[in-house]
Amino acid sequence: MQHTSKLPDVKTTIFSIMSGLAKTHNAINLSQGFPDFESDKTLTDLVCKAMNSGYNQYAPMYGNLELRQAIAKKIELLYNTSYHPDNEITVTAGATQAIFTVINTFIREGDEVIIFKPAYDSYEPAVKLNGGTPIAIQLEAPFFGVDWDLVRQKISSRTKMIIVNTPHNPLGTVFSKADMLQLQDLTKNTDIIVLSDEVYEHMIYDGEQHQSACLFPDLKKRSFVVASFCKTFHNTGWRIGYCCAPKELMDLFMQVHQFNVFCVHHPTQKGIADYMQEPKHYLELSAFYQQKRDLFLNLIKDSRFKFKPSKGTYFQVLDYSAITDEYDVDFAKRLTVESGIASIPLSVFNTNNIDHKVLRFCFAKKDDTLKRAADILNTI
Ligand code: GLN
Repeated sequence: MQHTSKLPDVKTTIFSIMSGLAKTHNAINLSQGFPDFESDKTLTDLVCKAMNSGYNQYAPMYGNLELRQAIAKKIELLYNTSYHPDNEITVTAGATQAIFTVINTFIREGDEVIIFKPAYDSYEPAVKLNGGTPIAIQLEAPFFGVDWDLVRQKISSRTKMIIVNTPHNPLGTVFSKADMLQLQDLTKNTDIIVLSDEVYEHMIYDGEQHQSACLFPDLKKRSFVVASFCKTFHNTGWRIGYCCAPKELMDLFMQVHQFNVFCVHHPTQKGIADYMQEPKHYLELSAFYQQKRDLFLNLIKDSRFKFKPSKGTYFQVLDYSAITDEYDVDFAKRLTVESGIASIPLSVFNTNNIDHKVLRFCFAKKDDTLKRAADILNTI
């Protein structure tokens, strides 16, 4: 018997590679994005309480109703727009499943999907598995802004979807209102679906406002907005997120979701629903992480790394071009093995692995971890 890969070009994800290397070499792990501190005990107590009070059988397909209502309330509060909890919000097994299922629902053989590079590494394989063709638009250093005229040129009669991500992983940039208006304008009167990955919506700095696709009425009509509780509540291992879309789109999504996942871990949903009754649990996140970003950047300001402060996410990219012209993957590995600090090289997310000499560091860490990391970076 001979089996062939459906994804012949795909290698092991860089997150597993770098976290594995960090572990082997006992390095400080600022590579894969996850906190090294525990989440609020109030939340874990609420999940335990849900488990001890009968929330242990299937949740409804769309998710626990109280959680969907809490999500709808949050969206009203933050973005002054509504999604109906009955049929426009679905709780998923992490944002990655939401992304995969949206792509699986809409992409057919020959469809084109516009993706901005660097791009999170799960988008393209999902498009290819469904017979679609990723149309990559590479963002260029040093500003990594989107050239919307170029996007206009790339849109063809085969364009079925555009994937956007703000705040952006790995860059730590955010889309402005003008960017979103351009996107809205470009897709007006088309059948293009917009997949808007907004998992870092609650980590946004320096007074910037998160520009959710749901804020723009014509964009909202064609968009799936994807969000993550794992990022927001510091539990990346819980694998729980959600997506929102107008009913006509969500109906199609549910045809796939019901036979793939059906529903996700019920007690966690109930615990999060209770926890979300207090809006400060998500509203305080930006201030919390901005303090960490500032601490980290202040500690390395005299190092040989160059940077522009991250505007969102819990990632900071550092330019090492003044240190070495080594390929970023090699440099990231060498820093892990020889210096004891792990990061993520950006080239793996770029078209043709373009190397801008930039590494991504996760600052969702205890202050002490950030200090130890900075001590190392200052010697490089
Ligand atoms: N989202 C995380 C990151 O960007 C990684 C998720 C994963 O490891 N698959 O670091």
